[in-house]
Amino acid sequence: MAEEALVSEERTVDTQWGLICNQLKTEFGATAFDSWLKPLTVGDFNNGVMNICAPTAFMKNWVVTHYADRISKIWEQQNSSIKKINFIVQNGLSDRRSVDTSLLKKISSTPTPQNIYGCSINSSSFGLVAGASLANDTSRNTAAASPLNPNYTFENFVVGKTNEFAYAAARKVAEAKNVSFNPLFLYSSVGLGKTHLMHSIIWHIKKNDPNRNVIYLTAEQFVYKFVKALRYKDTAAFKEQFRSVDVLMVDDFQFMGNKGTTQEEFFHTFSSLVEEGKQVIISADKSPTDLEGIEERLKSRLVGGLVVDIMPTDFDLRMSILQKKAELMGIELPVKVAEFLAQKITANVRELEGSLKRIAAHSQLLSGKEITLDMTQDVLKDMLRSIDRKTTIDEIQKKVAEHFNISVKELQSSRRARTVARPRQVAMYLAKQLTSRSLPEIGRKFERDHTTVMHAVRKIEELIIEDQTLAENIEILRRTLEN
Ligand code: ADP
Ligand code: MG
Repeated sequence: MAEEALVSEERTVDTQWGLICNQLKTEFGATAFDSWLKPLTVGDFNNGVMNICAPTAFMKNWVVTHYADRISKIWEQQNSSIKKINFIVQNGLSDRRSVDTSLLKKISSTPTPQNIYGCSINSSSFGLVAGASLANDTSRNTAAASPLNPNYTFENFVVGKTNEFAYAAARKVAEAKNVSFNPLFLYSSVGLGKTHLMHSIIWHIKKNDPNRNVIYLTAEQFVYKFVKALRYKDTAAFKEQFRSVDVLMVDDFQFMGNKGTTQEEFFHTFSSLVEEGKQVIISADKSPTDLEGIEERLKSRLVGGLVVDIMPTDFDLRMSILQKKAELMGIELPVKVAEFLAQKITANVRELEGSLKRIAAHSQLLSGKEITLDMTQDVLKDMLRSIDRKTTIDEIQKKVAEHFNISVKELQSSRRARTVARPRQVAMYLAKQLTSRSLPEIGRKFERDHTTVMHAVRKIEELIIEDQTLAENIEILRRTLEN
């Protein structure tokens, strides 16, 4: 009896997954769906926890950052007995942080050299050579690469005050015959267009100069490939592959892993390319100096070219992006709705785009129902509720100033008196703890640079241990801010 129930539960789950897939395809489009969601399979379902399996660690991480929230939401709506969704890697290569040390062991226990990316390990499998013809290719060589997104082009990138410098630098690199700054280092917090610009550069190069040899990959893929090469004693081919490119692009450099042989290898590859006048382009979520776990000599090479950040969007840019995306999706977006979204969804462009996709999907499901403000508020209610709950730096400054009986102006001022300086450090500390803003972003709100913020955070971390009263004050502030 129990077994029957289990079998029927499994069936239900499979059917539900089918329905969910349909919905995800509508929301995210066929390209994204085929690249990232189609390869997922439903795993065990126990005690309310549902496992979803991805074929590689890279893919799992991508799905977790880009699609997990949405997948969980839809499951919950479909089946209330599902309490949690767990994303796992089928072949056991799961944790990016343990890659450097544990991967070697795991690889050595795999029976054939087929496993890491589902592709063989001869030297031809190294290159994630990006090109138009490979963009839709899901065969061996690109199985691990993030496929190029055909929509991530310069034409589709909306330029505003906060990203114009990054855009100009990316264009310059893409168009230049001679290298003018090397490397180009792009950084910003998540969802502000780094990957979009990286792909745009490749599309541009491939269109105008198809013979140029471009490798685009994430730092995580670089690590995997290097570890794999070490394991199979194939480092010569690895070096050859990477050192013979014209353009090397490494996305999400913060995942380069901790210091060690991989970084050492990267350092040499990087240096040799730069010396030969080959272009290197890197993106990360922090500036080179703020990157953790990266060797000093590598950091100092990384700042040797042009370092550009993309700042959080402003209202005007969000409006332009919404218009552009609506046009690309072929939907009519009333100005009132666009204004509402641009005011509410400020954290990053990915979320903004996500909200638009949900509205579009909803309207399409209801046979082209007109998009209105009411409908938008209804469709996005969960998202909006969680945004309303999010703490901002402005709010933190206001509450901290009130709590310590000083003004926000004083908090932002350059006064060093303890009565002002300590609350300022507390505010910086709370901003780091309670928001996803980077150190430079927090610094800007206090008219300070990122090192001051870093120092403040450390200082408070130390003081909390010794100073009971301060610890309590911070706890009270945290509670008021989180409510
Ligand atoms: P990052 O790599 O910085 O995390 P992405 O490049 O993945 O961010 O951008 C997230 C989403 O936002 C993508 O769909 C991208 O197309 C979109 N996006 C970001 N900035 C812009 C922009 N200025 N114009 C158009 N789309 C943008
Ligand atoms: Mg990215």
